[in-house]
Amino acid sequence: MVSQAARRAQVLVLGGGPAGATTAALCAQNGLDTILLEREKGPRFHIGESLMPDTYWTLKRLGVLDQLKASRHTVKYSVQFVTDTGKESQPFYFFENNPHECAQTWQVVRSEFDSMLVENAAKHGATVLQGARALDVITCPDNPRKVTGARVHQQGFGEFDIHADVVVDATGQSSLISNKFNLKVADPMLRNASVWTYYKGASREGGLDEGATLVLALQKKKGWFWYIPLADDIVSVGVVGPIDYLMKGRGDAETIFQEELERCPGAKRRVMPGQRVTGFYTTKDFSYKSSQLAGDGWVLVGDAFGFLDPVYSSGVFLALKSGEFAADSIRAAFDSGDFSGQRLGSWGPQFLQGMDRMKRLVHAFYEGFNFGAFVRKHPEMKRHLIDLLIGDLFKDSVDEIIEPLDAMRAEYRAMQAMEMAKEAEMAKTM
Ligand SMILES: Cc1cc2nc3c(=O)[nH]c(=O)nc-3n(C[C@H](O)[C@H](O)[C@H](O)COP(=O)(O)OP(=O)(O)OC[C@H]3O[C@@H](n4cnc5c(N)ncnc54)[C@H](O)[C@@H]3O)c2cc1C
Repeated sequence: MVSQAARRAQVLVLGGGPAGATTAALCAQNGLDTILLEREKGPRFHIGESLMPDTYWTLKRLGVLDQLKASRHTVKYSVQFVTDTGKESQPFYFFENNPHECAQTWQVVRSEFDSMLVENAAKHGATVLQGARALDVITCPDNPRKVTGARVHQQGFGEFDIHADVVVDATGQSSLISNKFNLKVADPMLRNASVWTYYKGASREGGLDEGATLVLALQKKKGWFWYIPLADDIVSVGVVGPIDYLMKGRGDAETIFQEELERCPGAKRRVMPGQRVTGFYTTKDFSYKSSQLAGDGWVLVGDAFGFLDPVYSSGVFLALKSGEFAADSIRAAFDSGDFSGQRLGSWGPQFLQGMDRMKRLVHAFYEGFNFGAFVRKHPEMKRHLIDLLIGDLFKDSVDEIIEPLDAMRAEYRAMQAMEMAKEAEMAKTM
């Protein structure tokens, strides 16, 4: 509990996931008096286990690489795609582009990973309050869009206000500020849902591929399975597909999962030797973006700003990266005494450009993009594809992929239109 006198901070971060813990650690490292609030107490479950290699640079700046290297998290060197007909692409090894240790990453147990980041924020000097929920943000009486603090409820201590020069919303999909100011915009192409669970003893590849993420398309490309090997011989297995397809009139989560497993022989074969060790989890409508990334006295980071889709495991990477960008812009705001949205959100254009590059590849996937076929047709583009899969999104050279990628997307759309026309024709004659 912060003392009465400490109920004011320079920076108040709401939410202790990867985005909030990163922002808080780096703000404290930048010499700012920082409070981090997390509504849960101690380690808590979270989905989002597969990291992208370019998380390396933020994790290095946070000073947690040695802890991760010594941890029990599974090492990940590659990602592999399996088509709806069961054809497996070659694994995309991240070190093909850069044989540096940054080309390997981890499949993490999120409760442990997130706790490590919160403890790290405290080590850097942030005051961490756990079991402390932000109920609402406090706005300026003469400017309802200017944020000056938050109303908090902490278990055992009741309600109190914390005032701050900058409030960072890192509340994940709760998106406290984005919802309050009505900024959330859903991605109409990505109205997806997911059902997932965990198996022990399910099959794993050998050697370098043991920790690979597998993305396995469902028959007729109605959706896809992720297959993520974790510590203790556990595998995270989940299906993602359009909400209407996956959730409407389908029964309970277990029924949906089992039915979809039947439509994905590659995933079924792999889970068969294992034992399911948890129940089923579901979520939906997770892809959206806020129409504004910062305002007077506030900044949004991680999922509180937006989330693309889980297909390339970009969520934690974007959470860490936005936390890093935001912490630097907050330091600059204190240096200039300017806490306007323009100053606090100065990193927005660069960040959004990177996110848009990833979004293009996400949309391509849902249009039926075939990684193997693309690389066979454009072998010189493989390095750009790997750059995107690594998370090396913030450089202009990756844009060389746009033209061939868009051309292939157009081919797939044309093919799909023909298939639909054929099906409609057949339906008429039946
Ligand atoms: C089905 C699915 C699969 C995914 N798979 C992957 C993957 O493989 N790899 C990957 O990188 N990403 C994945 N993601 C995305 C990933 O889960 C998120 O992008 C990531 O967790 C975002 O981090 P964050 O810190 O922004 O938010 P979160 O991790 O959600 O953290 C937000 C924190 O804020 C706290 N909080 C919320 N409200 C309040 C409040 N009012 N007051 C105080 N605290 C509050 C919460 O308890 C939580 O700890 C997946 C997402 C989905 C939906």
